[in-house]
Amino acid sequence: MADQLGPAVAKPLFNRLTIIGLGLIGSSLARMAKQKGLAQTLIACDSSPAVCARVKELGFADEIIAEPERAVDQADFIILCVPVGANEALAKRIGPHIKKGAIVSDVGSVKASVIAKVAPYLPQGTHLIPAHPVAGTEFSGPDAGFATLFVNRWCIITPAPQSDANAIEQVKSLWLAAGSNVEVMSAEHHDLVLAITSHLPHLIAFNIVGTAAALEEGTKSEVIKFSAGGFRDFTRIAASDPVMWRDVFLNNKDAVLEMLGRFNADLLALESMIRKDDGEGLFQLFTRTRAIRRSIIEMGQETPKADFGRNSSSDQK
Ligand code: NAP
Repeated sequence: MADQLGPAVAKPLFNRLTIIGLGLIGSSLARMAKQKGLAQTLIACDSSPAVCARVKELGFADEIIAEPERAVDQADFIILCVPVGANEALAKRIGPHIKKGAIVSDVGSVKASVIAKVAPYLPQGTHLIPAHPVAGTEFSGPDAGFATLFVNRWCIITPAPQSDANAIEQVKSLWLAAGSNVEVMSAEHHDLVLAITSHLPHLIAFNIVGTAAALEEGTKSEVIKFSAGGFRDFTRIAASDPVMWRDVFLNNKDAVLEMLGRFNADLLALESMIRKDDGEGLFQLFTRTRAIRRSIIEMGQETPKADFGRNSSSDQK
């Protein structure tokens, strides 16, 4: 499985590329774009003065502009890398300053709500082409990013049926340059698929770790001591950024509730198998679930190494 970025592109794909939000995802994108020479000028913008100062030290942006209105001025490609819940207010601020024909994209883990909240503020002639790199770690901030985060990971692009074909191709080129595999689907379909592959697993991890955290002190310390029994892998997911995940659940409510309903029904069925000593039922289910893990490894989205979760390597989000 290749885990390196290819060589720099022969000619920059963009003139002015503005990345807003230089956390894990934004700073990984910026590092990648710098390394690959994707933009003539790479502009970084973040609401946090500490993040701006750190980005300056790290040196992967050509310009650091704290005010989003100025950061998007004359940009031909703008990528919003802020928590999903921050997109609307941001779009309101930058909308009047976006040049005609510019492409606006994002990296949010939820797509339909971003389209509903961002599109109304964009001037006529702007191309909104949302995207979601299905890659991440449980860490946040500009120091957590790395240029190869997206290599061999999927990036899902969710244009509207009437979106400009050339703008879609440009968004695709960015993610292909990042080393990602690109898939195009509707925003609604994306939200349903990610509700089961990402949002529900996070909800379950937050819940199980929350249950452990509420245990009485003595038992809690035993949980931590013997965590290698499985609990530890849940804690890695449950350590993910609280702002990001609050926004994901509030913005993908319907799909998450739909998947949660199915999960609850399956959990009841499992409970009943245990109650009825249905060993055959349990065996059949666990055999099916083991096969899913094998297909993920076969598709190159995971390695068979037994130390998964013990190194801070990239994971799917
Ligand atoms: P992060 O590390 O917390 O970074 C977000 C950055 O955006 C922070 O520096 C934050 O500053 C800044 N910010 C917040 N509001 C802003 C605004 N209005 N204007 C400018 N900057 C602003 O988050 P992340 O993990 O990179 O996630 C960013 C996006 O990527 C989210 O939409 C998330 O759904 C998506 N995503 C995340 C992952 C993942 O694994 N983390 C994977 C795929 C997609 P403050 O710290 O001052 O708020």
